[in-house]
Amino acid sequence: MTSSNLTEAVDSICKKFSITDEQLKSISSEYIRLTKLGLNHNGEAMAMIPSYVTATPSGRETGTFLAVDLGGTNFRVCSIHLNGDNTYDLLQTKTVIPRNLMVGTSKELFSFLAQKVKDFIATHLSEKFDEDATDHQLKLGFTFSFPVSQTAINRGTLLRWTKGFDVKDAVGQDVCLLLQDELDALNLNVHVAALVNDTVGTLMSRSYTSPGHHTTIMGIIIGTGTNCAYVENLDAITKLGEEKISNLRKNSPMMIINTEWGSFDNQCVSIGSTDYDEQVDKKTPNKGMQLFEKRISGMFLGEILRVILADLCSQKLLFKSSSSELETEWKLDTSALSRIEADFSKNLIATRLLIEKELALESTLEERKAIKTIVEAIGKRSAYLAGAVVAGILEHTKAFEKHGIIDVGMDGSVIEFYPGYESLIREALSAIIGQTKESRVQIGIAKDGSGVGAALCAVVA
Ligand code: ADP
Repeated sequence: MTSSNLTEAVDSICKKFSITDEQLKSISSEYIRLTKLGLNHNGEAMAMIPSYVTATPSGRETGTFLAVDLGGTNFRVCSIHLNGDNTYDLLQTKTVIPRNLMVGTSKELFSFLAQKVKDFIATHLSEKFDEDATDHQLKLGFTFSFPVSQTAINRGTLLRWTKGFDVKDAVGQDVCLLLQDELDALNLNVHVAALVNDTVGTLMSRSYTSPGHHTTIMGIIIGTGTNCAYVENLDAITKLGEEKISNLRKNSPMMIINTEWGSFDNQCVSIGSTDYDEQVDKKTPNKGMQLFEKRISGMFLGEILRVILADLCSQKLLFKSSSSELETEWKLDTSALSRIEADFSKNLIATRLLIEKELALESTLEERKAIKTIVEAIGKRSAYLAGAVVAGILEHTKAFEKHGIIDVGMDGSVIEFYPGYESLIREALSAIIGQTKESRVQIGIAKDGSGVGAALCAVVA
């Protein structure tokens, strides 16, 4: 092994991950093309799901609301008090869903959830809310992170379960009604007012809390996976049909769309593909799907790095020998990339310790520098791809013609903790739409999408 061999290999890897300005522009254009397709037809790769949320909050809303979140292992119940000045107070409880309820009957599952709402009210809201008082109905926003076909803001039919749930008789039923029936059975004066996707909640929560009262037009999540919701012109959502559009238009000219952008460009026409991406994709249960997500989000970046390091090791370009840790799929978490990016010590000490701890391998300084360069290439591609599609949405929605400053809400550990991620998104934006427009984009973290965001959906419902 010579140092020039390693340098050459690293250069070649970085080239595969790099995205030129021209490529950024074509990714952005392809995103706009597929956005339009998804708004026109059902069944397109990018689902572009109408949320039936037709207003965003101003920040001046007030009152107490409930939100529940059934996502995976936990069920969360929150109360949100909106103070009317862009701030809110949130109380929250979390319960692990018993395994037997995840595979039982819908009655068992939803009566359990309703009971948790009842317990929450009794513990935290008994002073504010009298269970028997009919004039104090509490509105509830329901974040439900499973595939549903939504037909109204609080109507959604469960298409299938994921994440270990298999409550067979619930499939094909309206999940809002299932919850409402059980709340009613407990005599709770609670109205399930909105069924909410978490990105829609992110957009709503950012819209309420956004500083400067600038219009929030996007809610983006880059965590385990990635997705985005944005504000669309109702008339552009032609797949709703003329009759539905004209009925909805009586109330509002807009609707929030849940893009499901994780599946953008599964053909890799514009986003590109490396042999390492293909190796990672092969190991996933949804091979060939969500390919945009697999280049961007937290679940995958660590594995992309591990696959590259294992490949370099097998070519005898990196590390003296392999380790079972290096050969173990999904061994590296994306937080490892963050820690390496943040290591500015002269001898890359933090990186050395991380490689020892996570991969049980000794490394030379030269090897650590090579690894850091690869990490930077993976992180930069992730942020550039995100930036390219954000630019696509900004152009598609003609945001710069409509607003002075455009606000974008973001959530998820990758956005929050990956060093320099926002700056890289901005670099990509600048390359596509120019620096003047880029400087009009305000990006901020939006917390509690499934809490305050869901409650806000219930408010505007
Ligand atoms: P979720 O998306 O599951 O709601 P998060 O937003 O916390 O939750 O995202 C979890 C993902 O973020 C995991 O895939 C993890 O690898 C990644 N992650 C956790 N910490 C960091 C970090 N410090 N830097 C980058 N990615 C991280």
